[in-house]
Amino acid sequence: MKADIGVTGLAVMGANLARNFARNGYTVALHNRSRARTDALVAEHGQDGTFIPTETLAEMVENLAVPRRVLIMVQAGGPVDSVIETLVPLLEPGDIVIDAGNSHYEDTRRREAALAAKDLHFVGIGVSGGEEGALNGPAIMPGGPEESYAALGPMLEKISAHYEGDPCCAWIGTDGAGHFVKMVHNGIEYADMQVIGEAYDLLRSVGGIEPAEQAGIFRAWNTTELDSYLIEITAEVLGHVDGATGQPLVDVIADQAGQKGTGRWTAISGLDLGSPIGAIAESVFARSLSSQPAIRATAQQVLAAGTDPVNPPVDADREAFVEDVRLALYASKLVSYAQGLDMLTAAAAEYGWSLDLGTIASLWRDGCIIRAELLDVIMKAYGGRDTDRHPEPGTTAEGQPANLLFAPEFREAIAVALPAWRRVVATAASAGVPVPVFSSALSYYDGLRRDRLPAALTQGLRDYFGAHTYRRVDRDGSFHTLWSGDRSEVEA
Ligand code: NDP
Repeated sequence: MKADIGVTGLAVMGANLARNFARNGYTVALHNRSRARTDALVAEHGQDGTFIPTETLAEMVENLAVPRRVLIMVQAGGPVDSVIETLVPLLEPGDIVIDAGNSHYEDTRRREAALAAKDLHFVGIGVSGGEEGALNGPAIMPGGPEESYAALGPMLEKISAHYEGDPCCAWIGTDGAGHFVKMVHNGIEYADMQVIGEAYDLLRSVGGIEPAEQAGIFRAWNTTELDSYLIEITAEVLGHVDGATGQPLVDVIADQAGQKGTGRWTAISGLDLGSPIGAIAESVFARSLSSQPAIRATAQQVLAAGTDPVNPPVDADREAFVEDVRLALYASKLVSYAQGLDMLTAAAAEYGWSLDLGTIASLWRDGCIIRAELLDVIMKAYGGRDTDRHPEPGTTAEGQPANLLFAPEFREAIAVALPAWRRVVATAASAGVPVPVFSSALSYYDGLRRDRLPAALTQGLRDYFGAHTYRRVDRDGSFHTLWSGDRSEVEA
């Protein structure tokens, strides 16, 4: 009997994906650099399905049906290259090598080109949902040659999460597209978590609402348009009491947020692509600032507060304040999704991918960390391509919103939220509560809709010190003022 797929790298993610394939009826050849993980998987979970444990990559390849499908789930970076190097001489044209780890999309582009030159298919897939998702159904974002999807897609769709019967897996685009989309998913996830954190901080610092009571508030919010996995687990974490101290757990956790790199990659890519993804970048910086305890301790001693005294709202106002914070959270969240999707559009143009934003939103509806009802609404906003809608303002030639915020349903939602959003950002500034994403998202929104931006002055300054020239509003061409001469204007 030959295996349908081989999985190499059997730490938590690889082992759980292998079990997921087996539970779905596929025969899975297993390999890990050190044999112990292979044996442990078969001993502990052999009953999940049919496994073929192997000692070496060569033995694993011998046990695969053609076209061979080898899924690599080892530590991202150098280990992936070293596994590929061993694997390639063992394979034949038409075989498929899959990297399901959190690889950088540029590495995936490089690997795809190298394997394509040997007539091998290289498929970089983004997998989201953590350990539990890998076992029970993750969101899967596969990139690579479209023809390889015919041999691989049905298997991936079967093991993926499903939203109302639809698989949370679809071909994304060529070479690094899958890993790019997974990276942006993680960037949005950073922003999603940061806006929740800002809401929590405001409810507590300004609203005087303790974590246990906030758990109930977040639970209630989870029945509104904020309905999502992250809001749901926020209620769980805030409601949890530390066994050792009897304090809310959130009070005994060190307030320094870690990161494994995908948020940073998103911010860097945003800069490279010229995409204004301030809300996402601010959420990465917020984690960085939190993780500087020494400088924060010094700042508490030496820097002035300059704040207005915080007056917790009286009971009558409290409900209104909580609702204001909810609306500010929702509006800021919409902006971070708009920025993430906008960045996908920029990347598609840069790398020649034809990314379908509606399909991408549909994959994120279940299985992954940002899963939310909102994504179904976003999918529908992009899904119904209707060329008749063009040239409605804010609509592309294909009848899709040119920016998520231009979709009628979100335009209206933000219009409703705006007064609350502005109040909350102003209150936070007066009280000295940092809200980097609430405020940067609001600035993005105002920046988008502002008639004249101070970029005109920036251009004037650039022309003054560097003769960088400027364009004029009243005629075509590039111009330069002779700043150190008679200050007349010349056409550049
Ligand atoms: P790790 O990232 O901890 O990697 C451990 C695995 O890599 C082991 O099987 C190890 O083999 C193998 N390995 C390390 N170096 C080499 C090498 N030079 N040659 C061959 N094998 C090597 O495992 P995870 O399961 O946590 O993650 C796997 C991938 O999935 C990563 O890219 C990760 O970023 C990504 N991912 C992780 C998620 C999570 O929630 N953990 C979620 C989504 C993606 P050995 O046992 O011999 O040491």
